[in-house]
Amino acid sequence: MSKKIDEQKKNVVIVGGGAATTSAIQSLANKLDHAQYNLILLDARPYYVHNIATLRMTVSDAGQLEDRALMPYDRLQNVTFVQGKLVKIEETTPGKGGVLVLENDERLDYTALVLATGSQWNGPPNLGHSDEKVRANIEIWRERFSQAKNVVIAGGGAAGIELAGEIREAHPNTKVTIVHSETHLLNDVYPEKLRKNLEQKVLAQGITLIDQDCIDVFPDPLFVTDVVTRKGKTIKDADLVVRTLSPRNSTSAC
Ligand SMILES: Cc1cc2nc3c(=O)[nH]c(=O)nc-3n(C[C@H](O)[C@H](O)[C@H](O)COP(=O)(O)OP(=O)(O)OC[C@H]3O[C@@H](n4cnc5c(N)ncnc54)[C@H](O)[C@@H]3O)c2cc1C
Repeated sequence: MSKKIDEQKKNVVIVGGGAATTSAIQSLANKLDHAQYNLILLDARPYYVHNIATLRMTVSDAGQLEDRALMPYDRLQNVTFVQGKLVKIEETTPGKGGVLVLENDERLDYTALVLATGSQWNGPPNLGHSDEKVRANIEIWRERFSQAKNVVIAGGGAAGIELAGEIREAHPNTKVTIVHSETHLLNDVYPEKLRKNLEQKVLAQGITLIDQDCIDVFPDPLFVTDVVTRKGKTIKDADLVVRTLSPRNSTSAC
């Protein structure tokens, strides 16, 4: 384990240092009796990744957003940060704590556990875990977007729409098409008026929309190819097809 943990004390462990926990953990750190408990944050990454910045950060290097969007956990006070990926929870007796098993086979006792492992995103926000991987993925996506002439975005939810806008802003000569399974962008959680207004704004940006259709086959990003949608529509000479489909819960260890 990278950090020394006081073994005389019980461990309160928070797994996942995402948006849901990073503010709450500091309040907990201020209230917890540190004479009795270690407050431990376990995360697979060495820093909090500000998801909201990830699309702009991966579309272009303008402003070097990674300097601000990747925020090291060691700035947290009265919190012991442990970098590691949780793969298994061994509960001793229900509600009485147990052991967390990490990917590198290390084990971490817990008395109280908060699971906040968030979501597994598709496409550019899916940056990986180690610092090397995250930074390499940022560079890979920047290179892909700077080379691409004709980008197809599979999924017209919030991430797909935002990505389309970021591409149009950073690379105005790049053609962008969003393929979306519904009749309007977003989904029916949102009011129809908003969805229609948004659609007009997206079209005004020169973005092409294909609705009520899907991309089933994702070509290798290194090749220029015609993409055929599920309903048989051909998008000619696409050179980058990006998934922005709904994320899945990161609950494989739970
Ligand atoms: C491109 C994009 C734009 C967004 N824009 C907005 C916006 O404008 N407004 C808004 O409200 N929301 C936005 N969101 C959504 C917002 O980011 C999420 O709702 C929020 O991050 C959820 O917080 P969380 O703590 O539950 O999960 P996350 O922030 O995903 O954090 C989960 C943490 O758990 C860690 N983890 C996962 N599995 C393990 C494991 N097995 N072991 C150890 N650690 C693990 C991860 O490394 C991660 O640090 C956006 C998301 C994206 C991708």
